[in-house]
Amino acid sequence: MKTIMVTGGNGLLGYGMRQVTQLESRDGYKFVFVDIDDADLCDKEQTRALFLHVKPSGVIHLAADVGGLYKNMTQGVEMFENNLLMNLHVMQCCKEFKVEKLVSCLSTCAFPEPSLSTDIKLPIDETVLHSGPPHNSNEDYAYAKRMADVQSRYYRKQYGCNFITLAPTNIFGPNDNYITELSHVIPAMIRRCEAAISDGSDFVVLGTGKPLRQFIFSLDLARLFVWAYFNYDEAEPLILAPDESQEMSIGEIAQNVADAFEYNKPLVFDSRYSDGQYKRTVTNQKLMSLNPSFKFTPLQQGIKESVEWFKANMATARL
Ligand code: NAP
Repeated sequence: MKTIMVTGGNGLLGYGMRQVTQLESRDGYKFVFVDIDDADLCDKEQTRALFLHVKPSGVIHLAADVGGLYKNMTQGVEMFENNLLMNLHVMQCCKEFKVEKLVSCLSTCAFPEPSLSTDIKLPIDETVLHSGPPHNSNEDYAYAKRMADVQSRYYRKQYGCNFITLAPTNIFGPNDNYITELSHVIPAMIRRCEAAISDGSDFVVLGTGKPLRQFIFSLDLARLFVWAYFNYDEAEPLILAPDESQEMSIGEIAQNVADAFEYNKPLVFDSRYSDGQYKRTVTNQKLMSLNPSFKFTPLQQGIKESVEWFKANMATARL
């Protein structure tokens, strides 16, 4: 039996991977989920000890120092360095312990900000990752993610390692991070809408609600990670996102959250808050050419399931 070790196993996508791998078993493989309690991947010796203990034949590396706009603006140094360190140690150990395959996780926010570069046309595809600066609201995290692509390709070229990288768009789903200072847009809205209902206040959406975003449901993404582990072997990153026609405004997303909670008052938009990047549409053309039968969960249904999970798990969720 071969072991595929999944780092970041207690996170948003890690939770999705646990659900999906329970349902979709793979003959001859078992998935082992690890998190920071098993090893701090910023520490080389702890990372080596983890590899010695688990003896993985494959690694899906999800662990990262992740956060929303506020965390990017206030903890840029830590996000940059922690992500560089984790990726460095995981790749070094994958080579040292002769791991057959490593899947590293990038992000579409590592791609260039279209308004800063005349070379970038929307929708963004895999070829332009390094063709212009990222948006300044998340450049620390973005540059660390770009280096995972660079490092991965160097290992492939020099040592023949089968290291691949996947670039998901914004993720949401059960077991998200709802901590106010750290959370992304959908979990932040879920928490605020629940609080507004509990204390009878307004559901306030930060910013104008106008920026457009693509989102992927964590369970869909988990299925795509498993598929890519067994089917994608190219050096180039692969963008994982629903069709660009599914892009929605922050205001529409907030309305979906409100509807899932059956919150019926009008939404309040607080335009004193920054909107961040206006839009960064990516294309999933390459993904769909390789995996044409894949079906994405409709956003409304994913939000409904995420809200139901939050209501049922508030006592233990990351709040
Ligand atoms: P998450 O919920 O924050 O999970 C990340 C996990 O990594 C957490 O369980 C965390 O543990 C663990 N971790 C953090 N620092 C660690 C360390 N030093 N050593 C070991 N483990 C550590 O994040 P996610 O949303 O699932 O993200 C999964 C992957 O998707 C990441 O690579 C992220 O960059 C990428 N991604 C995320 C999004 C998004 O919208 N969320 C979008 C695109 C790409 P603790 O919580 O215990 O610290």
